[in-house]
Amino acid sequence: MTAVLSTDVAVMMWFLVGMPAVKIRDALEFAHKQLFISEELDNPNMRAESYLNLARSHQRLGGLERALSYARHSLYNECEQCATAGHVHLTVGSVYVELAGFNKALDSFQHAHRIAQTVHDRALELQVYLGLSELFSRLQDADKSATYASKAYDMSRSLQLGDLNSRDHRSALLQMASALRKQGELGDAQDYCSEATRLALVSGDQATYARSIRIMGDIYRKKLDINKAFRQYETAMGSAAAMGDRVIQMESMDGAARCLEALRLQHKICNCRPLEFNARLLEVASSVGAKLLVRTIRIRLSQIYQALGDEEQKLHHERIALRLQKELDLTCGGCESPYGLESDSLEALPCTHILHARCAYELFRKNKKSKKRTCPECDKSSSRLYLNCNDYNSYSPVPLSICSSDSHCTTHHVTSSV
Ligand SMILES: [Zn+2]
Ligand SMILES: [Zn+2]
Repeated sequence: MTAVLSTDVAVMMWFLVGMPAVKIRDALEFAHKQLFISEELDNPNMRAESYLNLARSHQRLGGLERALSYARHSLYNECEQCATAGHVHLTVGSVYVELAGFNKALDSFQHAHRIAQTVHDRALELQVYLGLSELFSRLQDADKSATYASKAYDMSRSLQLGDLNSRDHRSALLQMASALRKQGELGDAQDYCSEATRLALVSGDQATYARSIRIMGDIYRKKLDINKAFRQYETAMGSAAAMGDRVIQMESMDGAARCLEALRLQHKICNCRPLEFNARLLEVASSVGAKLLVRTIRIRLSQIYQALGDEEQKLHHERIALRLQKELDLTCGGCESPYGLESDSLEALPCTHILHARCAYELFRKNKKSKKRTCPECDKSSSRLYLNCNDYNSYSPVPLSICSSDSHCTTHHVTSSV
């Protein structure tokens, strides 16, 4: 009986990990079955893993609170220093990035990073850097986002982990594309993105494919080719909807909304379509709980209502945007002014509080003699920055054409040997 069950689990795990094109609802069903079997076998490790799979599936379905709750269940069943616990912390971190709980995200990533180093899980470490790159991208620090993306990308090329490696490599390529776009390096961004699209198609990785199409839309939008960008977003929306990936769907809709906004400001379309589209997007983003995006949509809506001459609605959305901004509490403890709402250099401390980079350096300079450096927010003393991130502040992107030939070979090996 036990042997049969174990084989089933092995097949299921292959299904979950090895088949990226699987629909999320199917993945969810398998995770529930896996949980059932783990209960039958009374196997806490397997239970922890099934809760992790449930958390990941709910994250992609946009059920972020449920994802957090499953992640907590996973940790109850797992030793704090196991690789699975590391992946749980990673998942919690990315869920908090989506919820705009950046301090909590930094805390979870720090836990995951510590475990990755303890158990020498290079793939986990790479994924932590991807998470941090995304976090600083949301907070509009393009350089720090690029630093972490580049670190992940370098690791993805040196890792020799077979299938998992190539999936991490695709994610790293995409994160590089996204970071380079934010830095205005559109040519390089396009190269990285096309490569990710190509590899995603070769391996049938639908999630990376949809994300790459969306990021290519961002690149076209930055190149002011709005029509091409819009078509990319439409494709990404369709692909995400087919998978049931609500988060990618929401991100693609936001891209489309930005295109409509550009066309509206150029007087190429009237106010009706952007109004209707943003209202729909607001519903999705609110149900997911993506507060930073909700704030952006409210600001867009207030501007559209202003153009329509509807002062009452304009003020209504403005007020909510302001209230959200206060709730997010993105205030630098050094200078008491907001961070993360426009592009700037940031630093985080090990206590996970975020400051403007200049305020963090000032803090360290000021307290140099007294030796005791304390965070202005929580008074915890810290002798270093978050994850020692100043160690790799010197960052220079390598053009894809020079560095990717060896990684292509690795990928072809992996694909042909399967
Ligand atoms: Zn500051
Ligand atoms: Zn602090």
